[in-house]
Amino acid sequence: MNPEFMRAIRRERSAAFDAVAGTPEIPLVDLLAQYRSISRYIDKAIESVIEASAFIGGQRVQQFEQKFADKLAVSHCVGVANGTDALYIAMKMLQIGPGDEVITVANSWISTSESITQTGAKPVFVDIDEYFNIDVDKIERAITGRTRAVIPVHLYGQAADMSAIRAICDRYGLEIIEDCAQAHLAQWKERKVGTFGRAGTFSFYPGKNLGAYGDAGAIVTEDSEFAEKCRRYANHGALRKHEHTVEGVNSRLDGIQAAILSAKLQFLEQWTARRQEIAAIYHSALNDIDEIECPGVGPDRTHVFHLYVVRAARRDELRSFLAGLGIRTGIHYPKALPFLAAYRYLGHRAEDFPRACANQDRILSLPMYPELDEGQLSRVIGAVREFYGRSGTSHDTPSRHHQYS
Ligand SMILES: *Cc1c(COP(=O)(O)O)cnc(C)c1O
Repeated sequence: MNPEFMRAIRRERSAAFDAVAGTPEIPLVDLLAQYRSISRYIDKAIESVIEASAFIGGQRVQQFEQKFADKLAVSHCVGVANGTDALYIAMKMLQIGPGDEVITVANSWISTSESITQTGAKPVFVDIDEYFNIDVDKIERAITGRTRAVIPVHLYGQAADMSAIRAICDRYGLEIIEDCAQAHLAQWKERKVGTFGRAGTFSFYPGKNLGAYGDAGAIVTEDSEFAEKCRRYANHGALRKHEHTVEGVNSRLDGIQAAILSAKLQFLEQWTARRQEIAAIYHSALNDIDEIECPGVGPDRTHVFHLYVVRAARRDELRSFLAGLGIRTGIHYPKALPFLAAYRYLGHRAEDFPRACANQDRILSLPMYPELDEGQLSRVIGAVREFYGRSGTSHDTPSRHHQYS
């Protein structure tokens, strides 16, 4: 990469050093730290695409699709332009449209429900369980004669209960599309998420666990006919140039993004293990604070900690306190989907989604990325403990680490 450009990025970053006696800010995610650790792979990947002038389609895209499918132990991967399109295209290829209903979860990023509406179908929300995922005990009562599919979201990186969801969908003849945008490599029992229904959709938005340097996404499936349909639709309805058997859209994974994703894929397991280690450190250092509820991991599943979300008393005060110390946090999401202005027309009330509603004022995402070092972790932990008037921390005692993986 251009050294001039890299210097500019570094200048911008040092401007982020806050006023607290030159203490560097701790961001929620640090994509530059990751780039620095693997820059020679990334630079080479980008160069190779430029040298080959293979910007759209080509070998790099095929290679990444193959590698990603292999990693998940699934037959097909179709690269698309982003994770939102992946959801939209998957539904569209199942002929989901006007008059249909699709069940999904109240707490997610808007892409999950926006893409349902985009097909012409109606999003039907179900409240969350204690792990922030769809409450499988409430799915059945949301099913009507118009229901076509269920979209579970493996939110924050934790797998939803795919055995229960499959059992319900098999009983009612419903399709499953897993939204895996936050859950690359997470597992339900022995299998990776994305492989339990007709399709799994992934986002490679830069901040995701596997992130491109721009927008990118993918659909994975065991169904070869469905894979071909998705591939054709995403490329103007043509599998071969100028052979438009149907109309489609322009939603392709580009060569540079594919090459970057391939370069990063080899590190994904170790990054995931580090995320789990950081989660274990947070857990053992914060779990004794009554005002904080650390995220639990349910049985039979893994959590890849795209986000580390605690439920905190006096959340907004805590957030400002941390910001004052140069520690950035996030809220995912400030409003559950049914309560967004965009869905006012559905007429939902707080009582319809008591859990999602109760979380809105308590959830807080602490800094989480594989490059977060011990010093930074200690600062975050120390600051949270200080806010709640607790001193000392046991986080450096490995025997007390909570096991997540
Ligand atoms: C990021 C995300 C998406 C959409 O991904 P884009 O690539 O940004 O379109 C969909 N669902 C969830 C849960 C996400 O977090």
